[in-house]
Amino acid sequence: MSSEAEVSRAIIGSYTSRFLGHLQSDAIIVGAGPSGLVCAWRLAQEGLKVTILEKRLAPGGGIWGGGMGMPDLVVEKTTSPLLEELNVQCQEAGNGLLVASAAELAAGLVLAALRSGAALFNLTYLEDLVVKEGRVTGVVANRTFLGDNLPIDPITFDARAVADTTGHEFVAAQLLAKRGLLKGEHTGEGPMDAEAAEAFVVKKTGACFPGLYLAGMSVCSFYGGPRMGPIFGGMLLSGEKAAKIILKDLRKRH
Ligand SMILES: Cc1cc2nc3c(=O)[nH]c(=O)nc-3n(C[C@H](O)[C@H](O)[C@H](O)COP(=O)(O)OP(=O)(O)OC[C@H]3O[C@@H](n4cnc5c(N)ncnc54)[C@H](O)[C@@H]3O)c2cc1C
Repeated sequence: MSSEAEVSRAIIGSYTSRFLGHLQSDAIIVGAGPSGLVCAWRLAQEGLKVTILEKRLAPGGGIWGGGMGMPDLVVEKTTSPLLEELNVQCQEAGNGLLVASAAELAAGLVLAALRSGAALFNLTYLEDLVVKEGRVTGVVANRTFLGDNLPIDPITFDARAVADTTGHEFVAAQLLAKRGLLKGEHTGEGPMDAEAAEAFVVKKTGACFPGLYLAGMSVCSFYGGPRMGPIFGGMLLSGEKAAKIILKDLRKRH
């Protein structure tokens, strides 16, 4: 029978070694919602060192709650190859739509990202960005519940690329906008128009500042696009597009 100290040692040893190994990454994905998890998964599949920071305990973001908390999730049929790759089952819902279990998709995305090699740090939130010579080169992070309540300094993670997949709050981009480093007015998302919003979010996915990329709802909030409500295809495709753009940019800079 192992001692309690051995259980603690196993947890701390495993966590610490992952933590130390990810203080410098190719890409940091801030926010483990659907767009962030797809982006992390695709980048890790390409062999990049990927670090996911998530402020909540559980990853998945808004996927878990379909609409009004009903765990049935709608995506466009164009995402079926991605769902098949994740081994997520879905049913035809007519009009080019599919319906799947929210829990299956959330679990499938988390598993795919982690099995591809991305590291997840939960209860860790982005507090600020590191900007050097006009480029984002890392993030300033703190432990959820600590930084907000106690005067405790954060720590930094370095990265060659940072993806803001924090959803409505577009936390990283807001930080730059507030300091006048990003042009335009960033007033948040517009009224609901699901079809237009799904196309908008994918089209506008990409860099908003050197080293900083937007995917998912943060695209809508940043550019003032329409909201889309409980349909998630755009989130998945946006994460996939962000990964392609990041990969191309990093290969160019190598
Ligand atoms: C409460 C709620 C409200 C919604 N409202 C709308 C709406 O108004 N309009 C609409 O079109 N759709 C809305 N949706 C549905 C929308 O499609 C989903 O939010 C979708 O999940 C967005 O995907 P995403 O990947 O962009 O981000 P999300 O699924 O929102 O995931 C973002 C993740 O980032 C994390 N995060 C946020 N800030 C930080 C930080 N500083 N550091 C680290 N992690 C951070 C969050 O905890 C979350 O896990 C809502 C969903 C939820 C759950």
